[in-house]
Amino acid sequence: MEDLSKIDELPIGIVQGGQWLRKFVFNDLDGSAMKLIHDRMMRRDKILSWTARVIALCLDSIEGTPVYPEYRANNFKKIPEIVLDLPMLDISYLFIKGHVHNFGNMLKDMNTRCPLCGKSFITDFDLNQLECDKADHPISEIVVNLQQGYVKKTGELGVENIKWDQYTFRPPDLGDAVRNESIYRAGEDIGDFDFRVLSQALIRVSSSEIGGDMSDDHRHQLGDMLIRDLKASDIVLINRDIGKLPTVGNVQNVTCTNCGENVRVAIDPFLLYPRG
Ligand SMILES: [Zn+2]
Repeated sequence: MEDLSKIDELPIGIVQGGQWLRKFVFNDLDGSAMKLIHDRMMRRDKILSWTARVIALCLDSIEGTPVYPEYRANNFKKIPEIVLDLPMLDISYLFIKGHVHNFGNMLKDMNTRCPLCGKSFITDFDLNQLECDKADHPISEIVVNLQQGYVKKTGELGVENIKWDQYTFRPPDLGDAVRNESIYRAGEDIGDFDFRVLSQALIRVSSSEIGGDMSDDHRHQLGDMLIRDLKASDIVLINRDIGKLPTVGNVQNVTCTNCGENVRVAIDPFLLYPRG
């Protein structure tokens, strides 16, 4: 783990055609970009599309592929494809890093409640000190060994009564999220949206029992049932393994002015915009 200030590349990046894309250049937000970010209706009703908009405005390029210039050229109507290919965990990083780039690293006078004494206090929060981790090799696959696995009891697909116990995912990306925006419900812990996103990021289903993979056709036919029908303990395993991917943390130690104790305070990267 390092301080955010020391990490200037995407923690995960995009693996595409044998290339690892992780270097990026920020675009300096101007007044008209800020106006697009301050779209209250969009932020309320389509937070995932709004997220893609913020990223498309904040990035000049990724490894030489233009982002903001392309977004501007199409009148801010279509999000450049490369933005939708970014892993969701890299989006959190870009939100925070982009805030530092445009507005500075200090969040001044944040009103916080102390988890120990329960009283509110005012503190500054230095985004640059957030812990951040980055991958030391390209991550295109996350292999999860399930405990109970997926077993289909009835049907005639030819996949029935086999224990499918190894799932391979690519890192879930912003495109997975945006495509399923209509079923996204803020604040829901695990819901249809998560099942759908995970099933889209699922690239291989294997069975140690038969020593082989499910065909792509069958995997696509089964769709989100491959996630939905798993036992809760297996879903926990999947979320745990995907959660181990490198990204930026969101908690920091600050001193409570009431009780004098060192306490951990979290910030939500999505609340950093609009701000200035
Ligand atoms: Zn306190």
